[in-house]
Amino acid sequence: MTETMHVPVVVIGAGATGLCAALAACDAGVEVLVIERDVTPLGSTAMSTGLIPAAGTPEQAAQGLVDSPELFAEDITRKTKGHADPAMALNLARHSAETIAWMRSNHSIPLDLLDGFTYPGHSARRMYGTPKRSGGELMGCLQSAAEDAGAMLLTDAAVTELVADDTGRVTLVRFSRPDGSVEDVSCDALILACSGFAGDAALVARHIPEMAEATFHGHPGNKGDALRWGEQLGAATADLTGYQGHGGLAHGYGIPILWPLIMQGGFQVNLDGRRFSNEAAGYSEQAAKVNAQAGHVAWSIFDARLHALMCEFEDYRDALSAQAIVTADDLDALAFAIRLPPEALAETVMQVAALTRGEGEDAFGRDFTGKPELAGPWYAAKVTGALFHTQGGLVVDDEARVLRKDGSALPNVFAGGGAARGISGDGSYGYLAGNGLLTATTLGKIAGRSAAALVTRG
Ligand SMILES: Cc1cc2nc3c(=O)[nH]c(=O)nc-3n(C[C@H](O)[C@H](O)[C@H](O)COP(=O)(O)OP(=O)(O)OC[C@H]3O[C@@H](n4cnc5c(N)ncnc54)[C@H](O)[C@@H]3O)c2cc1C
Repeated sequence: MTETMHVPVVVIGAGATGLCAALAACDAGVEVLVIERDVTPLGSTAMSTGLIPAAGTPEQAAQGLVDSPELFAEDITRKTKGHADPAMALNLARHSAETIAWMRSNHSIPLDLLDGFTYPGHSARRMYGTPKRSGGELMGCLQSAAEDAGAMLLTDAAVTELVADDTGRVTLVRFSRPDGSVEDVSCDALILACSGFAGDAALVARHIPEMAEATFHGHPGNKGDALRWGEQLGAATADLTGYQGHGGLAHGYGIPILWPLIMQGGFQVNLDGRRFSNEAAGYSEQAAKVNAQAGHVAWSIFDARLHALMCEFEDYRDALSAQAIVTADDLDALAFAIRLPPEALAETVMQVAALTRGEGEDAFGRDFTGKPELAGPWYAAKVTGALFHTQGGLVVDDEARVLRKDGSALPNVFAGGGAARGISGDGSYGYLAGNGLLTATTLGKIAGRSAAALVTRG
């Protein structure tokens, strides 16, 4: 009989949450093993733009931007219409600046403050990203940092079972390898960093029926394991109906056309050439609005100025290379190319131009003022509404400890990122850009510190 390996802290999942947790445990001098199902750790994190919000940072102050954790927490509360846990939102907002400084200074992750535009719902410019503004690059940096810090990373290993004692203390983690072999590792503390359930169609149909038929553009390996194990251990769950959607996934290409295009003046029309919503309310809630249109599609309409702005983003450059962007010198030619009724499209463009000049009120409540009027040559992208990521999960406290339904903490189980309840409330409307990676990096960091403190205390 082979002896079971023992590691003080085991982390399940090597996305941003798991790797930040591992970094924090290493900082505390505690041995940590990260177990990842995939051959290469990517997760939803690598699919994202890698943008992480932080409030009250020195870079913001240097640029004269007024921001604070309290203001950030207020933005979260406003966006969720009060449906996020206010204490959790404030705790994460208070940690956010330190998380960026810690990742950058202690672990050499090159994060800088984004220039140019403010994401919907944020009252200050507060997004940080790596130079390419890509989640793939962020993941590469996190993985190198974790290796440099001495974290053990076991890939190609899918955790299948947790063994706990009568008190709910997890003592053993069981995982399987592609050849069918099964191995165990025992631990003193466990961090669930294996994300949400968007990759499990049955769970999505159960909790988020409005997106059951939508295109799924997230990490397929996120099958709700943390949720299932948490429930088995008696953990409380919240906001399981909450999700991050996106109303701008290039139809048939699976490439997100990001929201600066809309926030800086672009708009969407349905197949009748008519607008149907306040596109600027948020990209997440826009998913269901697009999917309610004929064919579950819309066209995002924009111009050369916005095209130039969007070329900053890798996703957009990918969309261009894939020929997902249509362009034409004048509106008639654009309408012909994308098969929209030319009169209706021209009328919509005139209406948007008038609203941009401050003439009249938008029927959908959008404020177009303060941006240049759109002008040819014209650009368009056919998009659909997609499900990116779930936002509900296990209830955790300020120390990322998983809580039972009676409010008491499980003895040695922590969670963060997509595995934990987020700060996006119980629908699609509450997702504020960056909520995903804020909860991943900051709760990951907190979970790593808390788990290390638990095992060090003994
Ligand atoms: C297209 C897209 C764009 C996004 N853009 C942004 C953005 O710009 N900003 C933002 O804040 N958020 C964004 N998000 C959301 C953000 O990516 C997620 O909230 C965040 O990455 C979650 O991190 P995580 O570590 O919890 O999960 P993940 O990064 O998904 O990592 C979880 C890992 O756990 C592994 N795993 C799962 N089950 C098991 C198991 N049983 N055993 C072993 N391993 C397992 C998975 O393989 C995966 O690698 C985006 C999401 C998508 C899909």
